[in-house]
Amino acid sequence: MKFWPARRLFSFFSNDMAIDLGTANTVIYVKNQGIVLDQPSVVAVKSQTSEVLAAGNKAKLMLGKTPESIVASRPMRDGVIANFELTESMLRYFIRDVHHNRKTFVRPRMIVGVPSGITQVEKRAVEDSAKQAGAREIYTIMEPMAAAIGAGLPVGEPTGNMIVDIGGGTTEVAIISLKDVVYCKSARVGGDEMDKAIVQYVKRKYNLLIGEKTAETIKIKIGTAILSDEANQIEVKGRDLVTGVPKTLMLTDAEVFEALSEPISVIIDAVRSALENAPPELSSDLVDRGIMMAGGGAMLKNLDILISKETGLPVQVAENPLLCVVLGAGKVLDELDFFRDALLK
Ligand code: ADP
Ligand code: MG
Repeated sequence: MKFWPARRLFSFFSNDMAIDLGTANTVIYVKNQGIVLDQPSVVAVKSQTSEVLAAGNKAKLMLGKTPESIVASRPMRDGVIANFELTESMLRYFIRDVHHNRKTFVRPRMIVGVPSGITQVEKRAVEDSAKQAGAREIYTIMEPMAAAIGAGLPVGEPTGNMIVDIGGGTTEVAIISLKDVVYCKSARVGGDEMDKAIVQYVKRKYNLLIGEKTAETIKIKIGTAILSDEANQIEVKGRDLVTGVPKTLMLTDAEVFEALSEPISVIIDAVRSALENAPPELSSDLVDRGIMMAGGGAMLKNLDILISKETGLPVQVAENPLLCVVLGAGKVLDELDFFRDALLK
C-alpha cells in the first residue's frame, strides 16, 4: 500500500475558505468544493436590537421596501466600510451559512479580500468576525492584488502588472510588481454610479422615475462605452412625475451611452492618473503587457476598447471578471509560502 503524506491527506480534507467581500456581491470559495456562495452584499437587521434577519438575496429583496422596524442596507456600498457593525454581521451570517452546512471537524483557514481603502481598525474587525465565525487562521489581502492573481497576472515577477477592478461602488486601479502594490488608487465610481446616471438621465429627459434595479438592467442589456452602428433599444417602465401614473417608453442605446459618459470619464481619469504615477521602468512594462480588467463593471460593452483607445495600451478583460478576487484569494491560500508577501500586514 502506498503511503499518503500527511500534508496531502490534510489538504484532501481541507475546507479552506476564500471570501470576496465586495461592495455589490460577496463570493465564497471553499477548497475542494468551488464557489459555495455568491450573493449581494446586503444585510437586513431589526432596527431596535440590530438582530440580523437576513443577508444576501433575501435581504436584497427587502431593499427600499422595509417597515420602520427593519433596516436593509448595503454596508460596503462606497468601498470603505460605511458601517462596520453591519459588515461584520453580514460576514458572520455568510460564513456561518457556508460553514454550518458542512460536516467537517477541521476549522478552516480563511482569507478575505478587502477594499484597498480599509483602515487597520476595520481590517481587525473583519478578522475578528471571521474568527468568531469559526476560522482557525485568518488572512486578508487587498482586492486588486487578489484580482490580479485571479486574472492570472505574473505578480511575482519584477515587472509592472496593471489591474483595473470595476466593482459596484468603486474602481480600484493598481500596479503590482514583486508581489507588492506599487501604486493603488480607489475611485468612488463603479456600476452603482452608472445606474444612478441612467436614473437621472431618464428623470431629466422624460420626467420618468425609474428604480436603480431597472437602471442596472438597462445598463447590462444596452449600455455601451462606444456607440456602434447597430441601433438597440429597450422598453422602460417607471412612474411619470407629472401625472403620477405608471408609464412605458423606449430608450435607445445612444441615450444610455450619453447617460454613462460621466461615470465612464471618471474611470478613464483614474486609469490615466495611475499611468502618470507609475515609476518609469514599470510604465515601459505596461506598454507591452497592457492592462487587465476585472469586476462586473469590466463587462460593460466596449469599455475595454475605449480604455485601450484612451491610453494607447492593450487592454484585456479577465476570463471571469466577477470571480477574479475570490479565485485569486483562494490561490494565495493554496500557495501561502509563495504569496505570503502579497498579504496585508
Ligand atoms: P463588487 O466587487 O464591488 O461587489 P462586482 O465585481 O460584483 O462588484 O460587480 C458588480 C457590478 O457589476 C454591478 O454594478 C453590476 O451592475 C455590474 N455588472 C455586472 N454585469 C455587468 C455587465 N454585463 N455590464 C455592465 N455592468 C455589469
Ligand atoms: Mg470586487
